[in-house]
Amino acid sequence: MDYVALGHEPAIRLSVFGGVLFAMATWELIAPRRPQTIGRRVRWPNNFGVVIVDTLLVRVIFPTTAVGLALLAEAHGWGLFHSVELPTWIVFVASVVLLDLAIYLQHVLFHAVPALWRLHRMHHADLAFDVTTGFRFHPFEILLSMLIKLAVIAALGTPALAVLVFEVLLNATSMFNHGNVRIPQKLDLVLRWMIVTPDMHRVHHSIQSAETNSNFGFNLPWWDRLFGTYKSQPSAGQEGMTIGIEQFRDPRELRLDRMLVQPFHGSVGSYPLGQRTGQP
Ligand SMILES: [Zn+2]
Ligand SMILES: [Zn+2]
Repeated sequence: MDYVALGHEPAIRLSVFGGVLFAMATWELIAPRRPQTIGRRVRWPNNFGVVIVDTLLVRVIFPTTAVGLALLAEAHGWGLFHSVELPTWIVFVASVVLLDLAIYLQHVLFHAVPALWRLHRMHHADLAFDVTTGFRFHPFEILLSMLIKLAVIAALGTPALAVLVFEVLLNATSMFNHGNVRIPQKLDLVLRWMIVTPDMHRVHHSIQSAETNSNFGFNLPWWDRLFGTYKSQPSAGQEGMTIGIEQFRDPRELRLDRMLVQPFHGSVGSYPLGQRTGQP
């Protein structure tokens, strides 16, 4: 069963990506959460351009995929899970949960270290918030996060199938939680105990730095509650809040060529954790 799934990795990835994208894009048309002031025609070609650049660059630079490294770790007995005797299902669940914790901590790190914030702020510079924001990350951030993920996989010795499930799940939940979709509030409050919802993650895209530096989770919502970074709603309300950061508010900054140079453009600003304005 493992090998059947792993043998179809590209097809599984592509069909989940296409399926969730189509479902979210349709949901956004039928029941949008906020009116979009900037149309899809302006943002979408550029946001899709980023994901194409990211995918090609990772293919060219890395000699292995995350799943490939997990298979190598299995063959050589590398990592924690290969040196302890635990039931397979516990290893599988622990792998997915720990990989998610690593992504949460990495996200906090990208907000804390000024040089890393320069890379990550491109994700926050989108002036609207929809399904395509979910894969709008600077190529250098993608390369660094791939390195971190490979290190975690080698250290933990996570099974290859758990890595595949985690990566596909994260891709799907990232598109879901960036959706400009309306979910009844009561349902949202229940859902956000199990998964990061769009209303929860939208707070993270607020122009206000205290809100930008909250709700770091992409998949499991528990880390923010556990580490005290959870904020339930934006102070200006979901419909009144301003999306984006103070830098890069010119709509020309939504173009692919401008996005790619944003890390090297202007000052680091006041967003990194510990550099918030008003703090001593
Ligand atoms: Zn962020
Ligand atoms: Zn985001």
